[in-house]
Amino acid sequence: MNDEALLRYSRQIMLEQIDIAGQERLLAGHALVVGAGGLGSPVALYLAAAGLGRLTLADDDAVELSNLQRQIAHGMADLDRPKAESARDAALAVNPDCDVRAITRRLEAEALAVAVAEADVVLDCTDRFESRYAINAACREAGVPLVSGAAIRFSGQLAVFDPRDPDGPCYACLYPPGEGGDEELRCAENGVVAPLVGLVGCFQALEALKLVSGAGRVHRGLSTFDGLVGQWRHFRVPRDPACPVCSG
Ligand SMILES: [Zn+2]
Repeated sequence: MNDEALLRYSRQIMLEQIDIAGQERLLAGHALVVGAGGLGSPVALYLAAAGLGRLTLADDDAVELSNLQRQIAHGMADLDRPKAESARDAALAVNPDCDVRAITRRLEAEALAVAVAEADVVLDCTDRFESRYAINAACREAGVPLVSGAAIRFSGQLAVFDPRDPDGPCYACLYPPGEGGDEELRCAENGVVAPLVGLVGCFQALEALKLVSGAGRVHRGLSTFDGLVGQWRHFRVPRDPACPVCSG
């Protein structure tokens, strides 16, 4: 690290749980962020600001006026631009030393597997179950930890699935596919209050930062946040021995 980097990251380096060594791990780290909307915006901005060395941002949507209420990486000048490119530019404006790659198509199949395998951590910032299951399966296959977030109306969710933990569940253990738990709720149809996506996205960024730097203990189980009463609840998530993705 040069003097400028030491100054830029000084408030993290002074934390004993991060220190120089943890910051060096962040600078050498690579996160894949799938989705550059409400969750992906704060994730991209905070990970770039915190000194994560490489960010890959994938999103196949373009910025619309109704996104600006909560997707804070995008501004008026970005309307109709690909979200991945707009979020990349916002991240680079905060930290030009971050190596940010924008993918403007939907990551699927082999392209998803390759992108996941190249990352140290994956952040699921999508709002489609089909994407969530595909990302989960790719993370299991590649052995890469997955930080999952969701936000709808006034409710948020956070969970981390780490394939390196032999007793750890996967996303499909929590929401078994085809069991009716996968009713799709999307912000476009159901609404979402603006700061909620920021709150969940910031928790995702924090967990990714901890995973890459080695600070603290990774979040376990499922946490849900009820924004109407301001309360978090925590649930244990056991591994499902019959899970089609992670068992056997
Ligand atoms: Zn599983």
